[in-house]
Order: sequence, then C-alpha cells, then structure tokens
Amino acid sequence: MRAVNPRFNPMPKPLYRKVVVKVGTNVITNDKGELDLNILDQLVSQIAELRKLGVEVLLVSSGAVGAGLSLVRLPSELSPVASRQVLSSTGQIRLINTYAELFEKWGLTIAQILVTKSDFRDRIHYLNIRTCLASLLEQKIIPVVNENDAVSVTELMFTDNDELSGMIASMMQVDAHIILSHVDGLFDMSHGEKNPGVISSIDIATEHFHQYIKPGKSEFGRGGMLTKCHIAHKLARFGITVHIANGQTPGILLDILGGKTVGTRFIPQKPVHGRKRWIAHSEGLEKGAVIINGGAETALRSPERANSLLPVGIVSVIGTFFKGDIIKVCSENKKAIGYGMAQYGSEKTKELLGRKGEKPLIHYDYLYLMP
Ligand code: GLU
Repeated sequence: MRAVNPRFNPMPKPLYRKVVVKVGTNVITNDKGELDLNILDQLVSQIAELRKLGVEVLLVSSGAVGAGLSLVRLPSELSPVASRQVLSSTGQIRLINTYAELFEKWGLTIAQILVTKSDFRDRIHYLNIRTCLASLLEQKIIPVVNENDAVSVTELMFTDNDELSGMIASMMQVDAHIILSHVDGLFDMSHGEKNPGVISSIDIATEHFHQYIKPGKSEFGRGGMLTKCHIAHKLARFGITVHIANGQTPGILLDILGGKTVGTRFIPQKPVHGRKRWIAHSEGLEKGAVIINGGAETALRSPERANSLLPVGIVSVIGTFFKGDIIKVCSENKKAIGYGMAQYGSEKTKELLGRKGEKPLIHYDYLYLMP
C-alpha cells in the first residue's frame, strides 16, 4: 500500500458519510482523447483517502467511448450507433482495468456495474441494483458504474451520465452527489459578463439556476451544464447536496469533503421518501398517462394536505397500464405535472372516471409532482 499523499492536509471529519462521485469523460481524457493516467491517479488517491476516513464512495465514471477511440480505428461508413457500441464495449475494458490497477495500489477492490435506463423501470429490478450496490459498499468494495452503452441504443438511453449518477445518488440516499467536470462550477452568465465568477452556492428554496444561465447560450444535451443543473436541482429537492466542480483541480474531492468553498453547491431541502425518489426519476419510463382536471391539480398541490389522485378528478386515460406501473399525470392542457404508481389498470380507471368515493388511482406516497 502507498503512503498517504503528503500534499493533502489531514481532514479531521469529512463533511459527508456516503457520496456518489461522477467523473466526466473530459476530466479523465487528454487532448488526444486517451485516458489521462495522471488525473486518474489523482482522483483514485483522493477516493482512497476518503475511504480511509470511513467515507463510502460510489464512482460513476464516463470514458468508455473515449478510451475506445484510442483503441480502435473505425471505418467512416459505420453508423453512429454501431460506432458507439464498438467504442464503448472495447473502451470499457480499458477504463475499468485502469481503475482496478490504480485502486489496487491502495489495497482497494472495485466492482464494475453496467446499467441501462430500463433497469430502473421496474421497482423490483431497481431494488436489486440497490441491494447489489449496498452489498458492495458493505464489503468495502468500490462500485464503478457506467451506462451499458453497448446495448442501450434506443430512446431508453440516459440523457448522459449526470442523469445516471443522479439516479444512483437518490437510489442510495447518499449525503452528496459530486459532479466532476472540466469547468470550475456554474458561472453567472445572466449579465453576459466577460469574466463571470463561479457561483459558490444555490439555495433552491429561494433561487433557480436558470437565473444565472443566459438564455440560448447554454449547452444542452449530453454532459451540458444545463442538464447538470437540472439533476442538481432535482436531487437538492430530495435532500441531497450536489457539488459541481472541476475534477482536474488537485485535491478537489478532499477540499469538498473538508468543507472548503470550491465549485458550486446546491443546498438541499428536507429529504424525500424513497419510493417518491424512485418515481421522480421515471420520466420517459411511464406506461401510460391520465389527464386530470384543474380541481384535482389544485388538490394535489395543496401544501396543507397530502392528497392522493382520485378517479373523480381524472378526465381521460391514455395508453394501457396495469397495477404497479408508473404513469404520467397531465394537467388539462396536456402538460406533464408529475408521475405516480397506478394502484389499478387503465381499463378499471376508464370505468371509474369522474366517479366519487372510489379508491385512489395513485396514492400520495407513490406520487411525485414536478415543481
Ligand atoms: N457512458 C459514456 C461513456 O462512458 C459517457 C456518457 C456521458 O459522458 O454522459 O463513454
């Protein structure tokens, strides 16, 4: 085992007990697109240090496609889907082997977990993943998670690994989700300044990140700052602190867990029940939908009472669903306002439409409403 890196000051008590660390491709690859062993070594030694301090770490690492690029030369006529499949399936081996070797120097064992978005669709399957990750942590093994890019090629792909790591963070009820990218955090672009500063914290109870992002200038899509902020906002609503910071800054993880002000921190709200967290990540996984009237929407959003969705407030049913399926709840103008788990199927819902005194279609405990 190696000695502790003397550059880092000892940390008396880390801020968090359990964290998800998400590492982006651009953090761990160099200009030529190859894995940057220096940076990887730095990150691994910090995680090893945190482990020594008793912090449980789940690592979500991108970089499979990036690593594949330096391994295989592809013919230009190969389709984008096939290219991604070839690059990720070859590159993932290089990526995980590199991590395994680096962690081994610290006496640490890692495990590889590859998932697709549909693995999160069914509650039992979801719980299986959770049990697996919890068992690995219990055995002091570090789970290294990535999307199974070789097989997830449909619309059921994660938006990016920020979405995947957000799901893991809420599934494992971690204290903090640390998103490491190649930028220092969220910059205040609202006034379009030339040299904007990093926003150190966002209190989602009083501020919205949109106010800092200049409309039209933001980067959407895989790995963009806007998707990072969306995930951060969502997790902070579930009671999880989120940090967005530069993964190439030496000692960044130790600084964050040591309580230093680095990057952007999303201040969390009160923790939310486990089932609601699962349902909240169900966008795109729903089997059907119901349209509800204005009265029902007002009742569901009431801050005073925990209301369930009753047939009396349902106007119409879209698609076919069964008991236990996740369904989308839409307002009268067809806008999605939330997700929930159906207590009975679409056929029965159609029979009960508009009727008073019937059993709720979605119980409050299984209902997540978007802000
Ligand atoms: N899963 C992809 C990879 O490992 C990366 C996806 C992302 O960066 O968001 O290459």
